[in-house]
Amino acid sequence: MLRARRDPPRDVFPPDPWGLAAVHFDTDWLLGYVGQAETMFALSNGYLGIRGTMEEGHPVEEPGTYLNGFYESRPITYGESAYGFPDSGQSILVCPDGVSIELVVDDEPFDLVRAEVLDFSRRLDFAKGVLTREVAWRTARGRKLTLRTTRLVSLAMKHVAAISWELVAEDDADIIVTSRLVERPPLPSEARDPRIAEPPGESVLEPTGARAEGARAMLGYVTRRSRLALGCGMDHVIDTSSPHDLSATASDEEAAVTIRLSAQSGVPMRFTKFLAYHHGHEGAQDMLEAVGGSLDEAIVRGFDNLLCRQTEIMGEFWDRADVEIEGDPATQQVIRWNIFQLLQSAARVHGHGIGARGLTGRSYEGHYFWDTEIYVLPFLTYTAPDIARALLKFRYDMLPQARLRAAELGHRGATFPWRTINGHEASAYYAAGTAQYHINADIAYALDKYVAITGDTEFMARYGAEILIETARFWLDLGFFSSRRDGRFCINGVTGPDEYNALVDNNYFTNLMAQHNLRLAARTLATLDPEAKAQVAAATNLGPAEPDGWLEAAERMYLPQDERLGVHPQDDSFLDKEVWDFARTPEENYPLLLHYHPLNLYRAQVVKQADTLLAMFLMNGHFSAAEKKRNFDYYDPITTHDSSLSVCIQSIIASEIGYADKAIDYFDFAATMDLSDIGGNVRHGAHVASIGGTWMALVYGFAGLRDGDGTIAFSPRLPDRWSRLCFALTIRGRRLRIAIDRARTVYRLERGDPIEIVHEGEALRLSPEEPEMTRSNRKCPPPPRPGPGAVDPAMPEGEG
Ligand code: BGC
Repeated sequence: MLRARRDPPRDVFPPDPWGLAAVHFDTDWLLGYVGQAETMFALSNGYLGIRGTMEEGHPVEEPGTYLNGFYESRPITYGESAYGFPDSGQSILVCPDGVSIELVVDDEPFDLVRAEVLDFSRRLDFAKGVLTREVAWRTARGRKLTLRTTRLVSLAMKHVAAISWELVAEDDADIIVTSRLVERPPLPSEARDPRIAEPPGESVLEPTGARAEGARAMLGYVTRRSRLALGCGMDHVIDTSSPHDLSATASDEEAAVTIRLSAQSGVPMRFTKFLAYHHGHEGAQDMLEAVGGSLDEAIVRGFDNLLCRQTEIMGEFWDRADVEIEGDPATQQVIRWNIFQLLQSAARVHGHGIGARGLTGRSYEGHYFWDTEIYVLPFLTYTAPDIARALLKFRYDMLPQARLRAAELGHRGATFPWRTINGHEASAYYAAGTAQYHINADIAYALDKYVAITGDTEFMARYGAEILIETARFWLDLGFFSSRRDGRFCINGVTGPDEYNALVDNNYFTNLMAQHNLRLAARTLATLDPEAKAQVAAATNLGPAEPDGWLEAAERMYLPQDERLGVHPQDDSFLDKEVWDFARTPEENYPLLLHYHPLNLYRAQVVKQADTLLAMFLMNGHFSAAEKKRNFDYYDPITTHDSSLSVCIQSIIASEIGYADKAIDYFDFAATMDLSDIGGNVRHGAHVASIGGTWMALVYGFAGLRDGDGTIAFSPRLPDRWSRLCFALTIRGRRLRIAIDRARTVYRLERGDPIEIVHEGEALRLSPEEPEMTRSNRKCPPPPRPGPGAVDPAMPEGEG
């Protein structure tokens, strides 16, 4: 079931392999897509993120500058509370906006919407990692001016952003430029969309001091409840031969640097605005000093140096992570935009997590979910293992809070929060929050994959094993051996990935992933060297019999199969429920969560997002091809994809079972989730999990990568629309490039020691001596038609 797409106007946004550009001025587009464009043109480095608001601040929907980990605690008020409900949550905060540069020409404020625009282009450059803009316009007095800006959020200096600003006037003119750093009042949320954060009613930033001197101004704050200090500042380096003067002011809410000059015809007026942001638990004064230090360093480096480093870092990134597609320029552009977002959300993330919207919007309050481990880490593990490691280390650092939470809930071990910034549970709705215990197994899964692909066993010994022990303990404590089910290990009262079926017993996904978590913990302990084992045993107070207990639970895990339908029931009660009345659900009622009470959803067979099918992807080797097909046929028609985390998984399974048309359709939806605004909410931020899922649909779906059991195997199935798909993977330090065309696949070892891979069941060994091998692709069988294996969930057996 797929929603309508809102493709961006191709005349405004032509295909461009290395950029996303609005190439001509269209007031309808400009005014109709303000918020969407702010997300699409957002820049970020994983620590500092700035939405794509234009410098003159108009038109504007939601300016946003975010720092990863900078949040306010907020009390959660319940109508009816109960034991163990979190009493406070966290919300990412909007920092003072530093992109603001207002321009007045001969007393006339420059306003893009009212101006007579002669030329316009705005381009996000994926190769350089910058946002550029060029506008030419005529003022009411008939003066023609051209403004060029280049904005970057530095990948080299994580606290720094910079804007290079250049104005050329064709005639002499009086110019006033006011560059601001301004704290804006919080914007009210849209009515009744639970995914959007409710901003604090008033500013929660308490001023701690403002300074202005020369072309520099700085503001300091501390948050009211979380007591995090924030320092932010701007400085300007002016480069013009026109006479000018400069003044700076700073108050609690705003700093401004004003430049007045008499522009001479044809003489460019240029300046660079440097911005720096720091936050932390240290004092406000320390933050301002750190800001001053970052500004000093940025100025010494200069804009050209920052730009050059940015391009170099982007070049290194694309070398490892680019996905090339031939025969489909529009998709090539969309894919690079997506991959660019992954870099933007992760590059300098160290010490933090990745929010569901990265740093492109405040939807989901900047919270970290399982999205990172299941949807983003595969990409990072294969292209930027150091970042994958940092994210897993960040989870490790949350273990103390996860242990506390397990104890609070009356369990042994540790349970990670469903949504959080500081490690404490921030979900106020336990049915779709705390009950999603599967996050523990998801973290364990990602950890295992990271170690298998990178060979970083040291990480496993130092940090990973402790996570595995505590999560395994938790599962053993949460579930029980049920006498009613033949002594099978059952896990009741959980919510799986599908949030339309909450608080169920034996969610298939959860049980299967918990089984993997339990086995992994025991296996890991058995393979640790004695010293590491002794250390982790001491750190966790491990009893000698515990691993056997985990293995027993894993062996006897209850994994139901419905013999009549030949599918795995999503949970114990799922198949007994009435199928949702899709025929009578109008298109405008999707996503269902905005139109139906949760109880209506919970009592029907209707699936928000891939759940059993996700289990089939993650635990691929556990299922036969026929099983995958039967389950896909069953779950596909009842899945609404109301979550953006769904279509990418559907595409991967469809590819695997030979449903080529569905595979590419679902892929298109995943890939264009944001640029075609499929959920209608891209203005609140980019869907980072779907973006990671798009990469997975390419690599695991069309290239057919399977990486379980220590083997790297491919089974390529190129979509008809493309003539070539090419990408690189980094595996235990080796760089492998895979190029798939219609008939063949070429595997090339670009760097590193020999590696063994598998193509369509045939083992290949690539080495520096024989770095390249070419193999024929398997001929695709004709697409299967829904036949006797297909099951119509709406149709009880024996009917129709
Ligand atoms: C999905 C969750 C996801 C969250 C954040 C929800 O709509 O159901 O699976 O973690 O969004 O992306």
